[in-house]
Amino acid sequence: MTGRVTLVGGGPGDPELLTLRAVRALGEADVVLYDRLAPRSELERLAPNALLVDVGKRPGHHAVPQGRIEELMVDHALRGAHVVRLKGGDPYVFGRGSEEVLACRRAGVPVEVVPGVSSAIAVPASAGIPLTHRGLTHLFTVVSGHAPLTDDEHRHLAGLGGTIVVLMGVNTLPQLAAGLLRSGLSATTPVAVVERGFSTDQRTTVAELGDIVIAAGVAGVSSPAVIVVGEVVRLAQDGDADAVATLEQAGTLAGESP
Ligand code: SAH
Repeated sequence: MTGRVTLVGGGPGDPELLTLRAVRALGEADVVLYDRLAPRSELERLAPNALLVDVGKRPGHHAVPQGRIEELMVDHALRGAHVVRLKGGDPYVFGRGSEEVLACRRAGVPVEVVPGVSSAIAVPASAGIPLTHRGLTHLFTVVSGHAPLTDDEHRHLAGLGGTIVVLMGVNTLPQLAAGLLRSGLSATTPVAVVERGFSTDQRTTVAELGDIVIAAGVAGVSSPAVIVVGEVVRLAQDGDADAVATLEQAGTLAGESP
């Protein structure tokens, strides 16, 4: 009898941010294929009957190629297993979740998707940064910084005037900053780089757009990190000198927009 696949969004790393549905799926799993950024610390407890397979990248090791992950997922399910494919954040935010759903459908394997708490929203929040704030901005855009954006994209992003959230953007931060500055975004726009959200060594680096590349270099920021560009960064409450200094201004802003 054919089994099934449940694609589970594991949230940003803290097991407490798994959904109830995610916990139930893990509890019923025969096989768990998990990523580097998935919440792995409590897997043995949450999936006590499952074969746990690490398919993520670790420093010095190669990740299992995407095609091979899909093969493993489908093969186990065709042999009758309930396979949980556990991913970081939400499966449909830069997670290749839709490719994995298609692979299951092609193989005739029933597949269900459990949404997760995306790092795009939760990691800034963990540093005290809301992506919207009444009177300050009513929109946010989430982009992948895996490859540098085009000049058109920089122009459109700058023109929107909202919060910009970049995932996978540490390596392309210089191009992002230069592109947004060229597109007319003020050099004083605040930027935050939030590294390793929800871990014990989470860190937030805050600087103005004109200085962020140097600040990030000095701090030695590394992946995984979420980058936030926009006035909402001034609302951060996370202990950075810059962020704390701007809290007073946040109070004023909140007061101005009933
Ligand atoms: N599907 C995931 C994103 C996958 S892309 C989600 O919805 O969250 C991987 C990128 O997510 C990383 O390069 C980083 O930018 C971000 N990310 C995921 N978890 C993170 C964490 N705990 N702290 C900081 N950034 C994180």
